Amino acid sequence: MKIADGCVVEIDYILRDDEGDVIDSSDEDGALHYLHGNGQIVPGLERALLGRVQGDQVSVVVSPEDGYGPHFPDRVVTVPRNRLPADEEPEVGMVLEGNGPGGETLLLRVVEVSEEGVTLDANHPLAGENLHFAVTVRGVRVATGEELEHGHAHGPDGHGHHH
Ligand code: ZN
Repeated sequence: MKIADGCVVEIDYILRDDEGDVIDSSDEDGALHYLHGNGQIVPGLERALLGRVQGDQVSVVVSPEDGYGPHFPDRVVTVPRNRLPADEEPEVGMVLEGNGPGGETLLLRVVEVSEEGVTLDANHPLAGENLHFAVTVRGVRVATGEELEHGHAHGPDGHGHHH
C-alpha cells in the first residue's frame, strides 16, 4: 500500500547536515514508526514520503522552512552568571529549563560561557539547518483506531510501548 494520511509508516533513516556529518539515525534509536499526516515528522520529510511504498529509498534535502524553522537571533541571549542556578556550573551543550514570556517552559541550550556571562539559545538545536535525509521505507500499514484517536503510532503491531 502507498503511504497516505492515516497510515503507520516504519522507516530507517540517516539524517546528515550540510557538512555530511550524521546528526541522527535509526542505527542509534531503532526504526521509527510514525502516524502519517499528523506532523510527527518534519513537514518536508512527510511530503517526500507521501505515496511511497515498502522498500522505497528516498533521499531528500529539507530546508529549514520545511524542517525545524529558521534560527531566530533574538532567541539567543547572554545573561550574567548570577542569573543562573548557583548549584550548577554552566557548560557548553548543557540544556537548562526556563520560562518564556507567556510562562511556557523553554529549553535553553548553553552555547557560550565567558567571564561576562552565559549565552543561551532557545532555538531548536536543528533550527536553520538543511536536513539531508536518506530514508528506507520498511513498512506501511493502516493505523488502528486507537492510534488515530491518540494521534501517534504504537509500534510495529499497533500495540507497542506507550508514551
Ligand atoms: Zn497512544
